[in-house]
Parts: sequence; C-alpha cells; structure tokens
Amino acid sequence: MSIAFKWGAGNGIAIALLIAVTVVAHEGEIKYRAASAAAEHSASAIDELDELWASVIEAESGLRGFVITGDPAFLDQFDGQPQEITRRLDTLQHLVAGNPRMEDLYVVLSDNLAQRLENARTAIAKRRTDGFESAASLVSTGQGRNLTDEIRTTIDEMVTAQRQIAAKGNASTAASFELMERVSIFGLLGVSLLVASAGFLFARGLSKRVGELVEATRIFGSGNLAYRLEPKASDEIGQIAHAVNDMAERLRQSREALASFAYTVSHDLRSPLHAMHGFSEALIEDFSDQLGPQGQDYAKRIASAAIRMEMLLNDILVYSRVERENMDLKMVPLDTVVDDVLSSLTQSITDKHAVVSVDHPLPPVVGYQPVLEQALTNLVSNALKFAKDGSTPEIRISAQRSNGTVRLSVADKGIGIDPDHHRRIFNVFERLHGADSYPGTGIGLAIVRKGIERMGGRTGVESALGQGSRFWIELPPGEAA
Ligand code: ADP
Repeated sequence: MSIAFKWGAGNGIAIALLIAVTVVAHEGEIKYRAASAAAEHSASAIDELDELWASVIEAESGLRGFVITGDPAFLDQFDGQPQEITRRLDTLQHLVAGNPRMEDLYVVLSDNLAQRLENARTAIAKRRTDGFESAASLVSTGQGRNLTDEIRTTIDEMVTAQRQIAAKGNASTAASFELMERVSIFGLLGVSLLVASAGFLFARGLSKRVGELVEATRIFGSGNLAYRLEPKASDEIGQIAHAVNDMAERLRQSREALASFAYTVSHDLRSPLHAMHGFSEALIEDFSDQLGPQGQDYAKRIASAAIRMEMLLNDILVYSRVERENMDLKMVPLDTVVDDVLSSLTQSITDKHAVVSVDHPLPPVVGYQPVLEQALTNLVSNALKFAKDGSTPEIRISAQRSNGTVRLSVADKGIGIDPDHHRRIFNVFERLHGADSYPGTGIGLAIVRKGIERMGGRTGVESALGQGSRFWIELPPGEAA
C-alpha cells in the first residue's frame, strides 16, 4: 500500500466522519425546529381558547345585564361577541387540525357554543317582547348555565391537552437541542482529535522509518555492511529499505572479493619476494668479488627494496585480515592488552630509550582482543617513531570513562600533526613524510580505524605541529559505571 494511498484513505475516513457528524447534527436541528413549532402551535391554541372564554364571559354578562335591566347598552356588549366567537373558533379549528382528540373536543365546543348563543338570543328576544318575567323564567331553567359549564369544561380539557402537547414539545425541543449541541461539539471535537492524533501517529511512524533509513546509511557509511534494515511495510519507504539492503549486500560482496583478492595477492607475492631477498643477500655474501662495487650496490638495493615490499605486503595482509576477521566481541581487560603490547615492543622501546608510562588501573572494554592489540601496537609504534629529532620518546597511556564509553589515549611529545591532515592520515597509504625521514607504509592508522570501527568504536587524534599528538580509541565499557 503506497504512502499516498494511506494518506488519501485517512483523509477519506476523516471526511466521512465529518459528513456523519454534520448529518446527525442536521437531523437534530430538524427535530428541534419541529418540536419548537409544535410548542408554539400549542401556545397559540391555548391563547385562542383563553380569548374564546373571555368572549363567552363577555357575552354572558351582556345577556344577564340586558335581561335584568333591559338596558340596550348591555345588548351592545352581547352583540359584539358572537362574531368574535366565530372568528376564534375558525382560528382554533386550524390549530387543532390533525389532532383527533382535539378535533372531537372542538366539535363538542362549537356545538355547545352555537346552542348557548342560540339560547341567549331566545332569552334576549323574550326580554324584548315579553318583558323581564318571561326572560327570567327562561334563564331560571338553568339550561344556559349548564351549557356554559360544559363550554368551560371542554375549554379546560382542551387547554390541559394543549399544555400536555406543549410540555412534550418543550421536552423534545430541549432533547433535540441537547443532541444537536452534543453532536456538534463532541462530534467535531472527537473528529478533530481523531484526525490530529491519526495525523500525528502517521507522521511519527514516517519520521521513525525515515530516521531508521538515515541511521542505516550512517552505519553503512561507517563500514558496517552486514547491518540490515527491516522493511516493515511494502510502501515506498519499505521499497527503499529493500533497495538499500540490496545495495549494502552487493557492496559487502564486492568488498569481500576485493579484500580476499588483496589477501591472496599479498600472501602469494611473499614467497617470490622471499626468494628475491634471499638470493640478493646470497649474491652480496657469496659473489661480492665477481660483482664489483657497482654490482654490490645494485644487489643491496634489491635486498632493501625487497624488505620494504615485504613490510608493505605484511601490512596489506594485516589490513585485509582485520577487514575480514570474524570478531567475537567480549570483555577485554585494557591493563592486560597494554602490558602485552608493551612487552612485545620492549626491544624498540629500549633501542630508543623511550619513557613509557601507563595510568593503571585501566578499565575493561568490550572488543576483540587480537585486533585491539594490533591497533594499540600501531599507535605506540608511531609514537616511538615520530619523536622529535634527537629527543627521547615520551609516551603516556591512559583511559577515561565518559558518556557510556571508555576512551583509551596514547599521547606522545613527538613532531605532532597539522590539524589539516588529521582526517586523511587514517586513510590507506596516506603518509605525511618520505620513507627516508620516517620509514613506514601508510597503512598503520588505517588498520587502527578499520579494526576499531568493526568493534563498534571510534578513533581520532588531537594534535598540532610540533606539539606532540594524542591518538584515542573509544569502545563500549566492559563493566557498569
Ligand atoms: P606509517 O606510520 O606507516 O607512515 P600510519 O598510517 O601509521 O603510517 O600513519 C600515517 C601518517 O600519520 C604517518 O606517516 C605520519 O605522518 C602521521 N602520524 C602517525 N602517527 C603519528 C604520531 N604519533 N606523530 C606524528 N605523526 C604521526
């Protein structure tokens, strides 16, 4: 699955979630609108019923006033109401439409109202034509009062029913509003959090894997071509990891072929070289008379060239061995390593009257003893070799622990090295002096660096021209600090 596809899929899911949140919030809004409309509807119906009742009361008092007093002013009060009642009934009819119970009550109410108005009109007519007694006898039958009571009861029932509808509507409005609010706040917050954390995890995963690639190239660059990346996924980064692994494997194979070629060549050249050396020595010893002075000089030059070439071949052999050697890393006591190296160099130390001091005790390190001894031998040999003209070599070997490593230093008071050359002297065949002033092959420090790096350590130098040098080796400590 490609990175672009994963990214696109993630965005797709985020958009789908946002759409879902919007749809749910929108549904909440629709419900909210419907519920608040129902509540408003009920409130209007209740208002209408209250007004209707007020008209009924108004008509009643007009009727009573006229029956009792015969004053036409009361008749005016009554006359305004039937029309008002009809108008309110029309409005009410629209408001209760669709609610069967309210529609039934409405029919009862409008019938009762019609009867009541009819009854009132009859009483008014009687008062006009037959006088008070006749009208009062009609009123005293109680028919009108019963109708008014029924009207009151029906209105009460309708108001109660509308109140219930309004209460339900209000509850449902609150619930819909709450749903809408929750969905929009928590939904959006949740989706944002989800998108942010998914984006963060995605970016972190990518950067971790890119970091692993960078680390691998650094490890390959330091010469460890046996290291392998774990591809983890089949996306573009996984493909790069595969390609980098393949490249490292091909490099490892060609480096091994080259090292084995160098090893075989230097090894096989040694016996013809021995023969050249041996025969040129034999010429000098056994045939010096026949050779004459010039012939002897040529034979000596052949012998010393053979010695130089032998040194070179030996160093190349050591280098290719260090490069190919299967290193079994374990705890190595530096005290023992230093003592062994110094005793193997006793002859040179004595010949040069060198003063070598060691800051015992030295801590143990994790490494491969034979190669560590080889590296230290090269450093001490150089310190003996590159002494200032006419001065006795002074060498100090010490070790410091810092940042989880042990740094072993070989310091001398010799000719020193210009900082411009610090980097290149660790390369193969790099020399700063001619063979006449300081003999050597230019491979010694390359062996040190290669060997230490293969143990997972580092090497370096601090020096200035004429100020002596401090070469150091850093390796993991062999015991807890
Ligand atoms: P070689 O000693 O055979 O010349 P090396 O690889 O050991 O080769 O050293 C490379 C070069 O680094 C030397 O030729 C020398 O110029 C410089 N060098 C190494 N060690 C020292 C030292 N202790 N003091 C001064 N120069 C040094």
